[in-house]
Amino acid sequence: MRKTVIAGNWKMNKTASEADSFLKELAPLVKGAKCTVIACVPFTDLTAAVKAAKRTNIKIGAQNLHFEKSGAFTGEISADMLVNLGVEYVIIGHSERRQYFNETDETVNLKIKAALAAGLKPIVCVGELLSEREDDITAEVLRRQIKIAFKGVSADEAKGIIVAYEPVWAIGTGKTATSEQADEACGVIRSCIASLYGKAVANKVVIQYGGSMNAKNAEELLSKPNVDGGLIGGASLKSADFSIIVAAAAK
Ligand code: PEP
Repeated sequence: MRKTVIAGNWKMNKTASEADSFLKELAPLVKGAKCTVIACVPFTDLTAAVKAAKRTNIKIGAQNLHFEKSGAFTGEISADMLVNLGVEYVIIGHSERRQYFNETDETVNLKIKAALAAGLKPIVCVGELLSEREDDITAEVLRRQIKIAFKGVSADEAKGIIVAYEPVWAIGTGKTATSEQADEACGVIRSCIASLYGKAVANKVVIQYGGSMNAKNAEELLSKPNVDGGLIGGASLKSADFSIIVAAAAK
């Protein structure tokens, strides 16, 4: 019913020319994939990436945007600027942005609305800290993040949003959530969306798992009913590993 979505988050890695050669190397490896394949690349790589991904099944995303349309926001990039380059997706609220760049649930909400208004598809990251999991408040944290993120978003718009469940303790640490933990948390997110918009909408929303997903653990994580894909950091930087994850999505 929901198409699996495998997205790479390159973070601050690869120059524009490296992006060009990487995508040319990746394209034949993921050709014919049964899932949606996305590469979220640095701003400076977007033009090269969109060009290299043309006539392939790889879609290109950015890793952030500003919520204002234009104006005196030195160093920032608007949704319209991304659309104008041919970008289709944008990661919003990644935990590294929340941690290092003061992003809050409120700015995440503003960014989602700006992305939707411009026609970009948001990949919205939510997830608990290790201390929150230890305090057994993971479900509350996820519900708060989702409720604020989706504030003012219509049911029709909500259907097109991708949510990435990314436990902060599993990102870039090599520690992966068990497939049961991932499925349970993605289930909490889905029922929270159902409480906001009803079951029919919630069943359409793609919910990914992210956090040290790799070529070895992807198949098990993706086998869970509430896990509709992956947001992959480290393992998306190597074409062989990333293409194994894409292939695992078809199993
Ligand atoms: C991420 O950056 O979204 C991520 C999940 O990173 P990693 O796969 O490296 O943990």
